[in-house]
Amino acid sequence: MINNHRLIDEFIALTKFDSESYNELDIQRYVIEKLKELDLKVVEDNSIDNYKKYTNSKNIANNVYGYLKGDIEGKGIILAAHLDTVSPGINKNAIINGNKITSDGKTVLGADDLSSVAAIIEALRVIKENKISHKDIEVIFFVAEEPFAKGSRYFDYSLLKSKEAYVFDLEGNINDVAIKAPAIASFKIRINGKASHAGFRPEDGINALTILNKALNEINLGRIDDKTTLNIGLINGGSGVNIVPDLIEIKGEIRSLDNNILDTELKHLNDTFDRYAKIYNGSIDFTYEKEFSAYEIDNNDNVIKRYNKAINKINNKKINYKTTFGGSDNNNLNMHNIKGIVVGNGMRNVHSKEEYILIDDIIDVTKLILELVKE
Ligand SMILES: [Zn+2]
Repeated sequence: MINNHRLIDEFIALTKFDSESYNELDIQRYVIEKLKELDLKVVEDNSIDNYKKYTNSKNIANNVYGYLKGDIEGKGIILAAHLDTVSPGINKNAIINGNKITSDGKTVLGADDLSSVAAIIEALRVIKENKISHKDIEVIFFVAEEPFAKGSRYFDYSLLKSKEAYVFDLEGNINDVAIKAPAIASFKIRINGKASHAGFRPEDGINALTILNKALNEINLGRIDDKTTLNIGLINGGSGVNIVPDLIEIKGEIRSLDNNILDTELKHLNDTFDRYAKIYNGSIDFTYEKEFSAYEIDNNDNVIKRYNKAINKINNKKINYKTTFGGSDNNNLNMHNIKGIVVGNGMRNVHSKEEYILIDDIIDVTKLILELVKE
């Protein structure tokens, strides 16, 4: 029933949009029309109002929500994918070679995550054409997923009726599924000292580097336990080789599968830097933003049971339950009491110009969706 050519044509059409994060307006208009043609009740939320502070782009768009009433009793399900790509994603030129689709080597392909958008649209077409019985279907096409899922962070969750979500946004194929993901916080520490001439009056200065050095002796970097990583990725400061540095700014992130450990580590960072700043008569400004909260889905949750059943109808390969160390729209769905899993959509080498996808894998995602909505 799946029209493979139409499915791939749709994917290629979607990749033609220059939909880097915060530039989804054109592709958003396009998918809204597609969903309307397929009889979904379509609503844009007002997420722009809340996330526009993160960008100067004029081409930002709201998240897209579509609802298709079903004829099967019981709660419905949510199907989600995102409309934005990482850069370089302008002038994408997808090349089909047998079963494989690649970019032309100058940009990403955009299989992350437009192949999932295409699969959802094709599944809805098949449902409409063949008048297939289905549960209530809620489709969400999120914007701005790549920059710490800003679109889903500010999605209007009051639109949703179901409590079960399938987010098609994982490297791997449909037998790969992420059921556990970390909380992520990004932080910035400004260490304020006092400048003085390094040769004539070094003792008049307050050396921000000394404060940093002392504090770092008490901070573990890298994998700090089996659930947690900490990184300081940006270090800036100083104003001249003969000047005691009066300002250093560091930026980093913490990820943990345990929300409490994340909080403890943030506090530990703040306290340690603050203590040494005081010892050396300096000060710090510590700021952080919680980008994601952690989630873990249980084997007994309906979302897993339904997924298992659906997979078994498509193939008899084993399912790989994964812990991801990345955040996605699914973190935000789970934070809003929706049980969601992230399913492999076939994309490979994502976030690189070597990104590719197999046509068979996009077809499998479409098959999976058609199974999921059936019972
Ligand atoms: Zn993605």
